[in-house]
Amino acid sequence: MTSEGSLLQSCLLCSSCGNRPLKFTADAVVCTKCANEYPLINSVVTIHQEERPEICFERDAARDTERVPELGGINEEFSDLARAQGQLREAILSLPYGNASKYFHEEGYFKNGASHAPAVDYLLSKLRIAAGIRLLDLGADLTWSTQLFAKAGAKCIAMDINHHLEVGRLYQEAFDISYDLLSCDMHKPVFAEQSFDVITALSVLHHSSALNSLTAHLAKLLRPGGVIAVLEPYCLYDEDKQHFGTDQIEAGINENVYTLDEWHQALSAAGLVLEDFLLGNGFCALYRKNAGSSRGLFDSFYDGAISEVTAPKSSFNPGDSIGLKVVVENLGKGNWLGEGLTPVNLSYHLFKIEPSGERRLLTFDNPRLPIVPHLPAGETRDFAYELSCPSDAGEYEAVFDLVRERVTWFEQQGFSIGRFKFTVG
Ligand SMILES: [Zn+2]
Repeated sequence: MTSEGSLLQSCLLCSSCGNRPLKFTADAVVCTKCANEYPLINSVVTIHQEERPEICFERDAARDTERVPELGGINEEFSDLARAQGQLREAILSLPYGNASKYFHEEGYFKNGASHAPAVDYLLSKLRIAAGIRLLDLGADLTWSTQLFAKAGAKCIAMDINHHLEVGRLYQEAFDISYDLLSCDMHKPVFAEQSFDVITALSVLHHSSALNSLTAHLAKLLRPGGVIAVLEPYCLYDEDKQHFGTDQIEAGINENVYTLDEWHQALSAAGLVLEDFLLGNGFCALYRKNAGSSRGLFDSFYDGAISEVTAPKSSFNPGDSIGLKVVVENLGKGNWLGEGLTPVNLSYHLFKIEPSGERRLLTFDNPRLPIVPHLPAGETRDFAYELSCPSDAGEYEAVFDLVRERVTWFEQQGFSIGRFKFTVG
């Protein structure tokens, strides 16, 4: 749900005149310059103006195939997935990993979704999502992927053209998380450049028939050093293309299939550099936007690690103060200074680990310990950090990172964070 200070509020442009920021009211987003209005429908910011006919057509097709398992739909009677109850709701909430319900044992939407779970786990492990990063999830559909990224602490926008985005409310209510929902064509220029640290695209870019201009557009939306993570169908040879998605295409869905070379060329031509990939049912890959010369001075500035976070024990009483030893290594070329315009401080993000094993971000910003005197390039030093225990009993994890105030958290630049798990009881 879009709230004051959300990611969407900070980066959304008026698609008619390019103005920013827009005014968010209870039922619409309004451009104060050209007075254009974009309705908020069931918590979804909806930008359907001047849409290309193929997009409208595809949205209708998504509605028409929703209950057709052979075309990836759901084998069930329901009126509105966003109001799903009982078994169907539980199945939705269990995506992509699945549960014991019948939905995961028959052809259709859920089995398809669950087939992506290994690739999604691979992407999550490679993305190492830092709390507070700005993430755009394209083709989010029910938003089962977005909710995973939000649980990891990312600020997210779930974007799609179909009516399934509203289902995001189910995840947000069930897991006490929040993210923006945006119904809009991914080709449209509706975001300010360099708005995102990460763009995820799970089975969505292949719906575009203009792949090269799309990847160029998406690359502009990434900050230098940002990453796009894709999971897309591919074929090995040109001659395999004709057999791909023929039933879906007949039903009105824009299916295009690209060879591995075509995927790689489209992403590379946009200035994105392949970092890592996995070939399973789909082409699953991470491409990083070249940091370019503008970053120059700060290349490798953030290289380093928190190599140790330890305390004499790991169980505490509510409100206890934990005396931690935190070992920080500066492996870059610059000296880290705890004073000046952009001081470098040591701090942590606090996560609660629920009995289910799920991690939930509790507080992103916590007390800072200045890196004084400065930590020179190439040196390692121990810091003594006093952490105050939460007042509620439970399992917690403190994720230690450095922050260059008003500029960036180090983890977002590739720095290795340190973790400390503890129990309050
Ligand atoms: Zn405008």
